Amino acid sequence: MSNKPWYLYTNLFDILKAAGYHTAWLSNQEVTGIYGNVPRAYADRCNEKKFTTIHDTETTVYEFDEKLLPLLDDSLKANASAKNFYVLHLLGTHLNYRARYPVEFEIFKAEDEPAKEAFQRDFQAAYDNAILYNDFVVDEIIKRFEDKDALVIYMADHGEDVFDDGVHLGHGPRGNDKYQYEIPTMIWLSEACKKNHPALEQKISAAKDLPFMTDDMIHALLDLMKIETPDFDSRKSLFSEDFDSTRRRIYKDNEYKDGEIIPLGS
Ligand SMILES: [Zn+2]
Repeated sequence: MSNKPWYLYTNLFDILKAAGYHTAWLSNQEVTGIYGNVPRAYADRCNEKKFTTIHDTETTVYEFDEKLLPLLDDSLKANASAKNFYVLHLLGTHLNYRARYPVEFEIFKAEDEPAKEAFQRDFQAAYDNAILYNDFVVDEIIKRFEDKDALVIYMADHGEDVFDDGVHLGHGPRGNDKYQYEIPTMIWLSEACKKNHPALEQKISAAKDLPFMTDDMIHALLDLMKIETPDFDSRKSLFSEDFDSTRRRIYKDNEYKDGEIIPLGS
């Protein structure tokens, strides 16, 4: 395993471009600001980058994620003959949940929810509506790839507490429990993809319950796409027979193991 500083490694987008891919970053998050600058650095490496709106992290007015769909449609049309790699950076179900879905998706009500306090049930209902809308957006994205040899990966950047532990709301510094550590991930393969790459479905299914950390995603992606680079490490690819499922998963000063959060040094 290498211990080079991070900036001596090549990023995913430069690798993909060298492998002949057209890379595109389509985003419904901010262009700049405390949470915008890091994703923007990756967006800047892509052949194409488009944002639904131009604003910074401090802005509280956002567009709904479906605003990405016309951007995706335009790009797919313009790059129909290319090998394409898209990142669609959704707002998803980030706080403020109520601002994430249009009124037609207001299906869940506070009385449908389990939390103890009324204000907590309001948050839970809004979160469930945001999830419902997110399902709609992800489905619309998948529809655009149904007639192609394509694979769609849905992955969140963190879990979320919606008073699941009775106390905490949100993520990051707020609370420290499995609701934030466990991240939803979904991989969808088109019919053409299953037919053209027969081993892929089995390879992906076999990985479904393995303990993984998203910081190794670059290795998993390169493995799926069969791209070889000197820095590729099969022990870090979820889809490799060499995958090291004993790698410790450490966040801040805690280890996450078998669903438990264990403070380091305890
Ligand atoms: Zn986030």
